[in-house]
Amino acid sequence: MLKSNWLLLSLLATPVMAAPLNVMLYHHIADDTPHVTSTTVSDFVAQLDHFEEQGYEIVKLEEAVQQFRQGKTLDEKSLALTFDDGFASVCDTAYPELKKRNLPFTVFVTTDPIDKGYSSYCTWEQLKEMADNGVTIANHTLDHTHLVNNAFNDENWFEAATGNIESAQNRIIDEIGYAPMIFAYPYGEYNNDLKTWLDERGYTSFGQQSGSIGVSSDWQALPRFNAAGNYASIESLRHKITASPLPLNYAVLADPLTTDSQPTLTVELLPSREAYYPHLQCFLNGQPTVIDWHSETGFSVTPSNGLSNGRHRVNCTAPHRDGSPFFWMSQQWLVVPNK
Ligand SMILES: [Zn+2]
Repeated sequence: MLKSNWLLLSLLATPVMAAPLNVMLYHHIADDTPHVTSTTVSDFVAQLDHFEEQGYEIVKLEEAVQQFRQGKTLDEKSLALTFDDGFASVCDTAYPELKKRNLPFTVFVTTDPIDKGYSSYCTWEQLKEMADNGVTIANHTLDHTHLVNNAFNDENWFEAATGNIESAQNRIIDEIGYAPMIFAYPYGEYNNDLKTWLDERGYTSFGQQSGSIGVSSDWQALPRFNAAGNYASIESLRHKITASPLPLNYAVLADPLTTDSQPTLTVELLPSREAYYPHLQCFLNGQPTVIDWHSETGFSVTPSNGLSNGRHRVNCTAPHRDGSPFFWMSQQWLVVPNK
C-alpha cells in the first residue's frame, strides 16, 4: 500500500480506535426510592462486579476529560461513575461500597437542599469526609432549576442561570475547600448561550443524553448513560459500557432549546473504517424513526408529528463492521412555547 494511503487510513481510523470514556449516571442507590431514578443496591453491586470482571478501569472523571480535552486518548477501557443531586443513599450506601473497592466517583450536588439540611440529602459533613477520601464533589446548581427554558421570554434568564451556577460553585468551595471545573445540567437542559459561557469560564459540562466520550466530543454537552430504573440491568448496560462515540463533530449539533415542535437533527458523520453507517438506526423517545440520508455520511431526523413542550430525545446507533460494539450519539430537544 502506498505510504500516503496508509497515513490517510490511520488518520481516519484514529478517532474511533482510541479507547472511549463512558460515564454512568446514577441518582439514588436504594430499594425504596422512585424506580425511574433508582438503582437497587443489588443491581449496583452487580454492576460494579461486572465492570471489574470485564476489566474496566474506573477513572476520576475530571482527570479523564482533561486528558481528552488536551487531545490525548485513554489507553484503558475506562468508565466513570457519577451521582446527581447528592441524595442521602449516595453517602450512606454507595460511598461505603465504592470506598471498599477503592473506586473514584463524582457527586454533582444541588447545594440549597443540603444547606437546608433536608434528610433525603447528604450532609456537608458527609460530603467533606468523602472529598477527603478522594471523592469529587461538583456543581449541579443551587436549586436544580430549569436553567434555560425561559430563555425566549425572560430577558434576565442568562444572569439568573450563570449567577446560580457561580453561587453553587462558591458554596462547594466554602464547604469542601475546592470545586473542580465540571458541571452537570439539571435535567440535562442547556442551550448554546449557556454552553458558551461555561466554556469561557473553563468548565466541562455534562448532560443526560446517552452516548460515549472521545476526542471530538462537545465539552459543554458530554453524554452519560443512565444506569437506573429500567436501565440498571447488566443486560441493558452491556452495549453502553462497550460503546464508542458515533464519529462526528459534536460541537456543531443544533441548539437543543427550540420553539419548533418538529425540530430537525442534522448530522454529518466523519469517515470511519469501523462504524457501519448503512446499518445506522435512530430512535425518537425510544421509538424507531425515519432517517433522511442526504449523502453516505449526512442524514437528518425530523419528528413526523409535533412534539409536546418539554424534553425529547433522539438516539442514533451504528454497529461496528464486525457486529459490535455500538457507536452512539444522542440529542436532547427541549421544546418550549413561543413567547
Ligand atoms: Zn439532578
